[in-house]
Amino acid sequence: MTQNSDVIVVGAGINGLLVSRMLIASGASVTLIEKQEVAKESSWAGGGIVSPLYPWRYDAAVTALANWAQAFYPQLAEELLIETGIDVQLHACGLLMLDAPDQQQALAWAAAQGHVMLAWGCDSIYKKETALAAGFESGLWMPQVGHIRNPRLCRALLASLQKQPGFSLITQAAVTGFITSGLSISGVRVKTAGEAEVVHLHGGAIVITAGAWSQQLLEKLSLQTAIQPVKGQMLLYKFPKPPIESIILNQGKYLIPRQDGHLLVGSTLEYAGFDKTSTSTARQALSHSAVAMLPALEKMEFVGQWAGLRPGSAGGVPYIGRLEPYSNFYINAGQFRNGLVLAPASARLTTDIVLGGKPEIDPAPYDLGAHRQDKSAGFEEKQVSTQAPASSSGSVMT
Ligand SMILES: Cc1cc2nc3c(=O)[nH]c(=O)nc-3n(C[C@H](O)[C@H](O)[C@H](O)COP(=O)(O)OP(=O)(O)OC[C@H]3O[C@@H](n4cnc5c(N)ncnc54)[C@H](O)[C@@H]3O)c2cc1C
Repeated sequence: MTQNSDVIVVGAGINGLLVSRMLIASGASVTLIEKQEVAKESSWAGGGIVSPLYPWRYDAAVTALANWAQAFYPQLAEELLIETGIDVQLHACGLLMLDAPDQQQALAWAAAQGHVMLAWGCDSIYKKETALAAGFESGLWMPQVGHIRNPRLCRALLASLQKQPGFSLITQAAVTGFITSGLSISGVRVKTAGEAEVVHLHGGAIVITAGAWSQQLLEKLSLQTAIQPVKGQMLLYKFPKPPIESIILNQGKYLIPRQDGHLLVGSTLEYAGFDKTSTSTARQALSHSAVAMLPALEKMEFVGQWAGLRPGSAGGVPYIGRLEPYSNFYINAGQFRNGLVLAPASARLTTDIVLGGKPEIDPAPYDLGAHRQDKSAGFEEKQVSTQAPASSSGSVMT
């Protein structure tokens, strides 16, 4: 197999798909390589909330990407509907965060960012969400936040890309290494399913969008990031009609009401390596948290459970940029819990950097060098330990 493209993109999750789309829109040809099928990993498993949870607790670098992407999502959804006929169901149903202890910081952050956020007492909470369990006293309401059907989003992106003459897709093909020529990468080694031999593909630039597996690839060139897999488990229930209107978040656990009556419950944070097994411990912990918010759930049909591997990074700040010392080697990975919301902005920045344009988004915080220097990364500790504590290996951290 030989193939020459302007850019080789490695990994076909939301990040690989959106980078491919934006590169092609700028006139580049792209070969997207995926070791399995398109978007069957984290980008399929995620809940599709188009906002970080407790967004004020994140670094400004995450907020900058989220703000850009949230403003862009309606346009993307509309473009994909026109191009492919697939409705990705971007639904601005609002996000209600119950009994958050840091309300004042939240309100100050929202005012500074220009986001609508209202502090609600119990009257407003129960007027909006009549099925909620009794006893919640305060809420933060963000009416503009919504969710998207992420598997549909990825399907639509693929369908749109497949119409583009400059796009090639190779699935069931794992990148296993890189061919270097001085300080540039002249090709990638690829092992295709059913073939013992390793083939070489050549591109002008190589972009790693391999999610939780990105560090495994960078290791081939002795490059080090903090990206590691963080398992997240979800539950799915079916109601005859949606029991709640908004996304509801309480003590780190959330309910997402799909418009067809499906209700997602998420999610766990587990440092368990690349294990994706669904566990009964997680099911119990998640259903317990969900029933504490929505008692009616106990009697509803349980549809299923799954797990995905988030590309964990310190504080959730992704790695986006060129990988020194190589002249044509790039990364866009490590979006952690927010890969779906951040994806359009991450792809915009990656595309601008790869094509040498003036970036719309300040690239400085996402550079590998900036990550190394950031001694304060870890601010997200309140919400999730970004380093796996020795005792937590394999445990469900709820
Ligand atoms: C339970 C759960 C809930 C979540 N909820 C949300 C949410 O509500 N909102 C939100 O914004 N984010 C959410 N996320 C996070 C989000 O899903 C991820 O951050 C995002 O999907 C990461 O996308 P990605 O493209 O980087 O990685 P992935 O989707 O994992 O894609 C990486 C791809 O690279 C491929 N690959 C790996 N190695 C190789 C190789 N050597 N060669 C070729 N291909 C390779 C993989 O097979 C995979 O298809 C959630 C995640 C989970 C698990």
